[in-house]
Amino acid sequence: MISAVLPTYNRAPMAFVQGEGSWLTAEDGTRYLDLGSGIAVNALGHANPALVQTLTEQAQKLWHVSNVYRIPEQEALAQLLVDTTFADTVFFTNSGTETAELAIKMARKYHYDKGQPREEFLAFEGAFHGRSTGAIALAGSEKMTKGYGPLMPGFRQLPFGDLEALKAAISDKTCAVIVEPIQGEGGIRALSDAFLREMRALCDAHGALLIFDEVQCGMGRTGRLFAHEWAGVAPDIMMVAKGIGGGFPLGAVLASEQAASGMVAGTHGSTYGGNPLGCAVGAKVVQIISDPAFLAEVSRKGALLRQGLEGLVASHPAVFAEVRGQGLMLGLKCVVTNTDVVKEGYGQHLLTVAAADNAIRILPALNIPDEDIAEALKRLDAVAAALEAA
Ligand SMILES: *Cc1c(COP(=O)(O)O)cnc(C)c1O
Repeated sequence: MISAVLPTYNRAPMAFVQGEGSWLTAEDGTRYLDLGSGIAVNALGHANPALVQTLTEQAQKLWHVSNVYRIPEQEALAQLLVDTTFADTVFFTNSGTETAELAIKMARKYHYDKGQPREEFLAFEGAFHGRSTGAIALAGSEKMTKGYGPLMPGFRQLPFGDLEALKAAISDKTCAVIVEPIQGEGGIRALSDAFLREMRALCDAHGALLIFDEVQCGMGRTGRLFAHEWAGVAPDIMMVAKGIGGGFPLGAVLASEQAASGMVAGTHGSTYGGNPLGCAVGAKVVQIISDPAFLAEVSRKGALLRQGLEGLVASHPAVFAEVRGQGLMLGLKCVVTNTDVVKEGYGQHLLTVAAADNAIRILPALNIPDEDIAEALKRLDAVAAALEAA
């Protein structure tokens, strides 16, 4: 018989009842060290006191009013994002998937309003942009699209990081090129700074818009507020979600004035998007993470963790092959099956997340204490030892 919950997930058997910082407590009282953060969502740890306070205060004042009215909390968060990024304007959503939908619509509308409609988006293999009909057509993998046809037309996927393929595919018919500066679901695969700069130049040369999906790699994960800042190039449109709500469902599409020029009154909307509760929490998250001292700490902690992981690769070459990523968006490409590593982690009361390309993701809270990093490395070492003995 089918379960009451639609069985679209292969779930681990644990259920958690409480969280604090980098730790989760299961129903049976066991404490787990959380290196997954709800897949890069709980960026400031579980039950962060500052966020709990902001949420509670706002909850006592006002939750929802609808975008029929001005929403001061939304305006404040938008201003904060405009002040700290390339963007001139922001639209709020409740998820990453919804940001993909708006990014697609915004790019097409931009060209349409210029009197030269363009349909084609260029994306990259291994990408993940969400699960809506548009987002799966954009990423294009068989795993996500099979059985859901006909797919929305106008999307093409190029081999990951293949500059020659991009040069050959881009033209004056290209609507936009979309890329995650570091692929998350795809296995913590980063594009080089040089590649991102070439992409920017190619888009400019052909009048195509450049869209960065920073849903997973953004919000301080790499040690900069957004990952693309390392390359010194800005997109025209950027998708943000996951970490920006610190656990509260919140997403945002950031855009330059020019790229957003087609999105006038009536062209897009969301009932919940930009509600006072989510935006109050989001503003607190952005204030904390955008502080240069906080971001420097992310880089320092990332280097500490990375050094430890490199050590594990050296001491367990039959289990781990390679460390990937930047800051606290790290991955371990495995020699053994990645899901076996994740499962053995559960046995050591350690939570990691599997990704494609036989990698596991290590996405701890950005404020993880150094002693929790040391404990995580100890447990990962035990995971590898157990797998070697098996
Ligand atoms: C998670 C993710 C999405 C989709 O976000 P949802 O909130 O699950 O809809 C889109 N793009 C990237 C890069 C992601 O990691």
